[in-house]
Amino acid sequence: MITVELIQAAQGDSIWIEYGETIDSLHRILIDGGTNATYKTLKKRIEALPPFARHFDLLVITHIDADHIAGVLKLFEDTTLGLTFSDIWFNGYKHLSNTTARGVKQAEKLTTYLEQNNIPWNRAFQGKSVCIPKNNKPLILTLDGGMELTLFSPTRKALAKLKPKWTKELIKSGLLPGPSALSHVEPTQSTRAPRTLLPDVESLARTSFKSDTSLTNGSSIAFLASYDDKKMLFSGDAYATTLLDSIKKYLPKCEPLYLDLFKVPHHGSDCNISKQLLEHIRCNKYLISANGAYHHHPDDVAIAKIITYGGHMSNIYFNYISDYNQIWKDQELQKNHCYHAHYPKKEDTSITINL
Ligand SMILES: [Zn+2]
Repeated sequence: MITVELIQAAQGDSIWIEYGETIDSLHRILIDGGTNATYKTLKKRIEALPPFARHFDLLVITHIDADHIAGVLKLFEDTTLGLTFSDIWFNGYKHLSNTTARGVKQAEKLTTYLEQNNIPWNRAFQGKSVCIPKNNKPLILTLDGGMELTLFSPTRKALAKLKPKWTKELIKSGLLPGPSALSHVEPTQSTRAPRTLLPDVESLARTSFKSDTSLTNGSSIAFLASYDDKKMLFSGDAYATTLLDSIKKYLPKCEPLYLDLFKVPHHGSDCNISKQLLEHIRCNKYLISANGAYHHHPDDVAIAKIITYGGHMSNIYFNYISDYNQIWKDQELQKNHCYHAHYPKKEDTSITINL
């Protein structure tokens, strides 16, 4: 059994995965911790587990943006939870080019915490960078319980590019004080004027693709997870081009990648999902994590492309209902464009997919 829970993480990501043969022998992976506020939801989720079960086979911090890392920092600060991890994947400053140099000391809260507490870190990579190997061959790693992970992002080049910008990017992410420290303000839902017209899906889907250029997003850890004949792609905020390159390397005969689930990169931004990428994938479950705050994700163009190029009768799972995604609930749109939109119930703090 596999359960993927897309936790409400404001404008960010936090994904709780459970897998195993029986309910009594479950393994767990946590991908990202969302924003500061996501910590409260995660804490409740963890406290619902008996103390002996508060173990993750893997924690992945996809990249340093506050909407992915801030909740993890809060989790680590809470010593009452008794959390343990077999491994943690995180690229700190020293991993950007595998040097021993340190970056801005006060900014590397997570690095400091992990090192001070002797917590296993990038063990699967012998403590080095989590990145696609130089030989470009797919790197497959197996977790306890038999979950296989194939790394799809980042490239070594993307990590190296981030190095000179590290401090600047940390300020931008809110991990260092600066003018745009997002993590100091916890957003609620953004609002937009109610829409009267249904979106023109065909013309939105034809919008030409312009790639994301954020260096932090480009450094995202993304991987294909395979378990029990099921395949899932977790993409952080990775570039569509990097994911496509990895798919082509994974399946060199240019056959499509069959997926049971795809966590759409970068909260459904139109800069991270392309027609080309979707055409290389066969999937009918697309997951989008965003409450619409700040960046107004997901973009209509991204949803239109998923509906148009992402396969017949695809299911789109949103972990919030917001002004930026509720239009896709429209029955006429769903019927005319052959897709299903799923939203959490009002009282829920996540949306769960069972595979
Ligand atoms: Zn993000």
